[in-house]
Amino acid sequence: MDVSCEHCGRRYQVQPKMSGRAVKCKVCGHQFTIPHAESSPLQESAANMPIETGVPSPITSATNDAPNNNFPTASEGPSDKVMRLVAGGMIIGSMLLLGLNHATAVMNDEVYLFALALGPFALTLGIAGLISPNVLRAAGKHGKHLPLGYKSTAAAFGLAGLLLCLLLVFVVYPLGR
Ligand SMILES: [Zn+2]
Repeated sequence: MDVSCEHCGRRYQVQPKMSGRAVKCKVCGHQFTIPHAESSPLQESAANMPIETGVPSPITSATNDAPNNNFPTASEGPSDKVMRLVAGGMIIGSMLLLGLNHATAVMNDEVYLFALALGPFALTLGIAGLISPNVLRAAGKHGKHLPLGYKSTAAAFGLAGLLLCLLLVFVVYPLGR
């Protein structure tokens, strides 16, 4: 019988006895359960359909004892806990950066552009990462396989950071006065 990945649609040939087992897609890393075979004659003729053959079995590991079916699971990259720590670090770091910038702006009338640009980005993406670590993943190299929703959310937060940056540069700390 053949199954296709629920996430990227990649089709695989599996043994019927694999029904009900949890597998991981080789292409996108998505975890899903192989459905039980519906014994229809179409299943047999499907063997002649343009299914990619000569491809090794997709079954890399059967993690039956891991019932984390909260899809979409990011099975690549650091764990959620690590991503939340990174997000928290980004928030604290950006606050320190902006606070330092504000202090020097008040005392010496000096504004640091890197703080004004980096701060809002780190702040917005850090907040997004605290809410959902997958958003932070989607903004980096570990999130390539994530659905478009996460990527667009990350892009929206990045855009919000850019707008905040422009606000700081042109409104809060007007340069060249
Ligand atoms: Zn897939």
